[in-house]
Amino acid sequence: MTTDRPNLLGLTPEELSDALGVHFRERGEPAFRSRQVARWLYEGDVRSVGDMTDLPLSERKALSGAFRVEEPEIDTVSISRDGTAKHLWKLSGGEVVESVLIPTGRRLTLCISSQAGCALACRFCATGWSGFGRQLSPAEIVTQYRASARWALENGLGAVSNVVFMGMGEPLANRKAVFPALTILNRGYGLGARRITVSTVGVLPGIKALAERREQFRLALSLHAPTSELRRELIPLEKRYPLDQLMTALEEFIRGGGRRVTFEYTMIRGVNDDLALLPRLADLATRVRAFVNLIPLNPIPYVDWKPSPRGRVRAFEAGLEAAGVAAAVREPRGRDIEAACGQLRAARRPDRAGPERRLRGVSAPHSRSGPSAPL
Ligand code: SF4
Repeated sequence: MTTDRPNLLGLTPEELSDALGVHFRERGEPAFRSRQVARWLYEGDVRSVGDMTDLPLSERKALSGAFRVEEPEIDTVSISRDGTAKHLWKLSGGEVVESVLIPTGRRLTLCISSQAGCALACRFCATGWSGFGRQLSPAEIVTQYRASARWALENGLGAVSNVVFMGMGEPLANRKAVFPALTILNRGYGLGARRITVSTVGVLPGIKALAERREQFRLALSLHAPTSELRRELIPLEKRYPLDQLMTALEEFIRGGGRRVTFEYTMIRGVNDDLALLPRLADLATRVRAFVNLIPLNPIPYVDWKPSPRGRVRAFEAGLEAAGVAAAVREPRGRDIEAACGQLRAARRPDRAGPERRLRGVSAPHSRSGPSAPL
């Protein structure tokens, strides 16, 4: 149920303190009440105002009359043989979004969504094929973390150590919600900025805006091709923000030190895995001291592309290392639970999925089923 009462989970610590300060002042309550509520939210993991048991009953009633504490409902949880756990969350208005818990050694990484669907139509991406639904609010982003972290603890996966904005949507096309969400995760829930990675296909103004923040959030560029010509075939946004401009923005991003850039390179057989591309890829990575993640394509139903052969992926890794670039092969996780971003949503929202476009012979998911997201 959604009402006009602000959701306390979507306020930054400063906004929370201001809003609660006014509320309790007007009720003649002491200032420490605001800190009590903040503690319940960030450390106590409460799911309703009624659970804030050290507030007098009258204050709990008044607080829940003015605010709400609301998380999305779990629609489905799918658990992969490799330990990856994917949640599908039901949002207001019927939208669904995905988040994925990925255990790796001592780490537990949570991949979260920033938009329901996506307008940017990258060809290799199931979310891109499913079209844009709507922007998520700060609360809808933060609560994926909150509810997933609780689920992970309850199910023996331990504490979430890292958060990556690599789920559905382009986070830097929803800065209005993603930037406050970053603040809430970092300053509210105490997740270190270096443990939070924002991934982008190259929203230039967003990269610049992230560089202006003082926290050292990490940035991952979904590169996928080391030349502008090839990149344009995979990522329509390349036409608007070309690679040379992105590289200049990344150089700016790392200036001053302490910030780290990663390149994501999905390896698609016969598309972007020609060994002749290696020197150019190594050059780009060297320019911004980027770590390169090589990811064999997780196939999606809408386009007939296959992952690069293992030998070719290893050859890219070795070639980059020989050029002095740190690189690693990242196996796609959760294949058996359709963990490629957007696949579950597409299955749930067949009205938005792409098979009919395939039948019409459309070669890229340009047809969008919703208002364009601002860039
Ligand atoms: S890769 Fe990212 S930006 Fe591109 S369509 Fe998929 S979700 Fe959108």
